[in-house]
Amino acid sequence: MKVKFWGVRGSIATPGKFTVRYGGNTSCTEVHLDDGNLIIFDAGTGIRDLGNKLSESNKRIRAYILITHPHWDHIQGFPFFRPAFVEGNEITIVGPEARGVSLAKLIAEQMNKVYFPVKLSELQAKINFIPLKEDSIKVFDAKLDSFFVNHPGFTLGYRLSFRKKSLVYISDNEPYSRETARLFTNGEPDVLKLFESYGGDPNNRVVDLIRGSDVLIHDSTYTPEQYSDHIGWGHSHYLYTLRMAAEAGVKKLCLFHYDPVLDDDAIDEIVKRCKKEMKKMKYTFELSAAREGEEFQF
Ligand SMILES: [Zn+2]
Repeated sequence: MKVKFWGVRGSIATPGKFTVRYGGNTSCTEVHLDDGNLIIFDAGTGIRDLGNKLSESNKRIRAYILITHPHWDHIQGFPFFRPAFVEGNEITIVGPEARGVSLAKLIAEQMNKVYFPVKLSELQAKINFIPLKEDSIKVFDAKLDSFFVNHPGFTLGYRLSFRKKSLVYISDNEPYSRETARLFTNGEPDVLKLFESYGGDPNNRVVDLIRGSDVLIHDSTYTPEQYSDHIGWGHSHYLYTLRMAAEAGVKKLCLFHYDPVLDDDAIDEIVKRCKKEMKKMKYTFELSAAREGEEFQF
């Protein structure tokens, strides 16, 4: 698989001179399977530049967009995704539904003529929707497993497997602790129950789903110091993310979805602190802090 990051930021886009190195766009990751087929994780503001690049070729575009959840930083770029405006293209949007609201409606509502001048139904490309819960489906010739993670509303993590390689994408996920569970006031009771009823450490629910993957792209919104003031907001700090990667035995971890207050220097410092922790704990996976424009293949 070939991976390219187009947006690595959480919550809101953060353009400006202090974020030029890691980038200011919100979540969007491009993945090409080894057969060339295109799968996009999340449609944050980064998807605009990806769409522009895809449009340069003038070839017909067939792609899946896997949405983790419909918070702004994961869908806001979609109305600016140029391939959606071109007849002959086919885009399949995959994602969770909210209680009583269909996936199609979740995406369409941000383009309802009040928030955006072009309605979803006016787009020229063929747009399909596949709502998911905890499922396993075929995406092109790859296998896609979806699972709920600990983030307000129904939020999915994805495991994509193709020709013995696997990538896990979890943009937003908070450590689940039974001691602080009462603070998860925005969580979906059905999702919280899944964690609560998991034997032993409830976080193993997610660890078991990412076990042995080649690449893990995981929420690393906060420093541990920031996290203590943000329990229940649905995000991880980097020490937790490192521990998840180590326990799951992944080969490569990409820190992802940085808090808007973390500028380039702050992220450099996080990488330094992560390397120190990895040495201390004898973690052996490869570490990278996802950076807009970064590409790699595995
Ligand atoms: Zn987010």
